[in-house]
Order: sequence, then C-alpha cells, then structure tokens
Amino acid sequence: MENRRIAEILRSGEPDEFVAVQGWVRTKRELKGFSFIEVNDGSCLASLQVVLNQDLPDYDDILKKLNTGASVEVAGVLVGSLGKGQRIELKTDKIKVFGEADPETYPLQKKRHSFEFLRTIGHLRSRTNSFGAVFRVRNACATAIHQFFQERGFLWVHTPIITANDCEGAGELFSVTSLDLKNVPRTQTQAIDYSKDFFSKPTYLTVSGQLEAEVMAMAFTNVYTFGPTFRAENSNTSRHLAEFWMVEPEMAFCDLKGDMDLAEAFLKHIFKYVLETCPEDMEFFNQRIDNTVLATADNIINNKFERITYTEAVKLLEKADVQFEYPVNWGLDLQSEHERYLCEQLFKKPVIVSNYPAQIKAFYMRLDEDEKTVSAMDILAPKIGEIIGGSQREERLDVLERRIQAQGMKPEDLWWYLDLRRFGTVPHAGFGLGFERLVQFMTGMGNIRDVIPFPRTPESAEF
Ligand code: ATP
Ligand code: MN
Repeated sequence: MENRRIAEILRSGEPDEFVAVQGWVRTKRELKGFSFIEVNDGSCLASLQVVLNQDLPDYDDILKKLNTGASVEVAGVLVGSLGKGQRIELKTDKIKVFGEADPETYPLQKKRHSFEFLRTIGHLRSRTNSFGAVFRVRNACATAIHQFFQERGFLWVHTPIITANDCEGAGELFSVTSLDLKNVPRTQTQAIDYSKDFFSKPTYLTVSGQLEAEVMAMAFTNVYTFGPTFRAENSNTSRHLAEFWMVEPEMAFCDLKGDMDLAEAFLKHIFKYVLETCPEDMEFFNQRIDNTVLATADNIINNKFERITYTEAVKLLEKADVQFEYPVNWGLDLQSEHERYLCEQLFKKPVIVSNYPAQIKAFYMRLDEDEKTVSAMDILAPKIGEIIGGSQREERLDVLERRIQAQGMKPEDLWWYLDLRRFGTVPHAGFGLGFERLVQFMTGMGNIRDVIPFPRTPESAEF
C-alpha cells in the first residue's frame, strides 16, 4: 500500500481503495462504539476524517494517545462519507502513533487563537488552518512568479546578499563584519579600521538586487531576481519587515510604458494562478480573514489598472474633499493616506502613478525631457499602498554622472555601474515587488509578520 497525500485523496480517492496516510491529529471525537479523528498533513486546508472502530486491537490505549498534535500513520479502506462536510473518509484498521502531544502542555488546542499569540509560538503556528493557508498561498505566489518569467524567457539571476554598495539609498543598512566588537581595530584618527575587516572595507546586507540585475540584463536582455533583502528600518508597521523577499525583473530595450505593462500583466498572472491552484485556501481567507479578498482578486484580473502621472495625482488630491494629515504639494512625496485615497476611494482599483519629481527619487531613474520629473512608477494597491516600485533607468552616461553627484555620491564608487553606460548602453527598465506585500494583498492578512514563516522585525528575531 502506498502512502498518499491527503489533498490528493480528498480530490480523487475512490471508495474501496486501500490507502495509508501520515499526518498530525487536529481533533478527536469519541462516540459510542467508534471515534472520529481529523488528520492533516499540510497538503490542503481540509483534514481527512478517519474512523476508528472499537474492535480495533488496543482501541482504548490508542485512543488515549490520539490527542490534538499527535503524529500518526493510519491505514485502511476509503469509504463514501455519510456525514456532510466530506466526500470520502478513511475506515482504519491499522494505526501507528509516532509521537504524542500532551493536551495539558500542547499550546494549540482546538480553539481560536489570536495572531499575536500565535506569533509567540512561531514553531507551531504553521499547524493551524490560517497559517497552513497562508504558506500554501505563499508557495503558489512564488511558483506563479517563476512561471510568469520563465514562460517569457527571463533568466533567474542570483544577486549577492553581502554588498559593499552603500549608496543605493533605499533604506537603513545592516552592517556585515567579522571584526571583534569587543576589540575593534582603530586607525590613527580613531575611526574603525575596516582594512582589518573580512572584506577590507565596510559591507552590508543588500537592500535591493537591482544594480546587479542591471549588469545581468546587459548580457541576457531579460532577467529577474527573487531573493531576500534586508532593511534596518526601525519602523514598526504592519507593512515593513527587516528581512523580506523581493522580486526584481530588469529588461533591456524597455521603456517605462513597457515596464508598467509587464508589471500589470505580472500581477494579473499571479492572482489568476493562485485562484486556480488554491481555491479552498482563498475561500477560507474570504470567509475568515477579509471578505473582500475574492472580489479584489477578480477586480485585479479583470480590470485595467488606472494610470496617472504624479502631477495628475497631486491635482486630484488637492481637489479631494477629505482632510489629509500630511500636506499635498507638488514636490512632496505621497504619503500612505494619499496613496490609499487614490486606490481605495477614488479609483477603487490598483493605480499606477508615474513620473515623480526627480528630487524625491533615486539617482538611477531616467530624467524626463522636462528635467523636473523622472520615469518612475509605483503601483498602489488598496489597503497595502505601494506594492511595486519601478522605473526606466538612466542610460545616458553624462546625465547619470550628474545625478549621482547631485545626490552627494561619488561616481568613482559606482565605476562598474557607469561602465554599463560606457559600453553598449541601452534603454532599460525594471521594478521591485515586495513579495510579502503581495502575499498580504492576496490573502487579506493584516500584518506582514503573518505572511512570512519567521518574521524579523525590530527587537524580534525568534525561531
Ligand atoms: P515603503 O515606502 O512602503 O517603505 P519603499 O519606497 O521603501 O517602500 P522600495 O525601495 O521601492 O520601497 O522597495 C520595493 C518594494 O519592496 C516596495 O514596493 C515594497 O513592496 C517592498 N518593501 C519595501 N520595504 C519593505 C519592508 N521593509 N518590508 C517588506 N516589504 C518592503
Ligand atoms: Mn521604505
């Protein structure tokens, strides 16, 4: 008899088939003469209902061990279920308990636990319905991302996690060092002597793989990165992690319009894929977490995103009949409240805002003809705010050098990046998607700490 996964049995198992499954007991119900246990192996939201008859050898002994959390292997025959709620159940004649879970001390007893409490048991929370659904959907999002790019001939490139580029300006950096912090070597002027450090210079955890992705796009035309990024931002929000995953495509011979088109097709593809492959999990989110999740997915897939320029956005915000906390003025960055007004109240769908003032955006974004704005774009999503940030990159050497200097950086430090403009430069563009923001958006989960298995946030690096 072969071991099978529960998702597959619930989908296509037939009465009279002999099967064995392994998993963890979710609940036990003792009735007269027999008992039900629900066994879950993580392959799907639903558990397999297992029937134990009291004529099973050692029935009473075994039943005592089958508490919530115990790990088991059950074997027997599938039968059509009389109860509603499941099509098929397993009538077992053989049961093996791998490990018991003491009901007095196992923290996940059958009741609703708050997400705050579940964060304190991060090593166990994946065994709940909610986190099971989150991490299956997270997996489906990752699969959809690779599928989208691979089908279009993009090369997946692996950019470094340790970097010496401290100039990207995307966020606060974590230092990487092998110096003895109790005895830091000093120069004559008492500065830290980085020549004694592992890399002979200051190094950091990467905040973005973009600059290196640009290098690779200049050889392979279309590439993407998908990996961890780090920001030591001390902002305790429901949308920021210190360690998060980012997807960054970079396309040679591509302008801002092509970038926006790709980003929109990309989000639509991921939503479609997840609805097709995780319908039960998505239904669960809609019922239990946020009852707009399915309507939102439908909206994303079937409607064109709104596209407006920053200048138009400012005009719309100035006309808005709501009182914003932060001022709206051409030249100031949009705050979260402004972003949310645009996509939640005004357009009621994702909005792509483009051509932001040059002075509030990064040096590598392409300067527009008016020299006031740059070819940048952000995709704003209801409830989440910025989910994607992208731009056409500055491909003109002289303009790029000027922009680097204007932001107080030294062109020499970016000699290799400038070389890309010296040798075979082309118009190119790309964007960054915060992977956890996407999973939040998809599932309706309110806190970003609950869409990554092991969240890293200020003062918290547990498990
Ligand atoms: P925000 O203003 O929301 O902090 P940002 O302008 O710093 O975003 P980018 O530097 O453009 O963001 O990063 C690209 C994407 O990475 C963002 O669109 C967002 O989806 C995601 N992102 C940025 N910072 C974080 C973070 N600390 N945790 C999780 N995702 C993040
Ligand atoms: Mn930020």
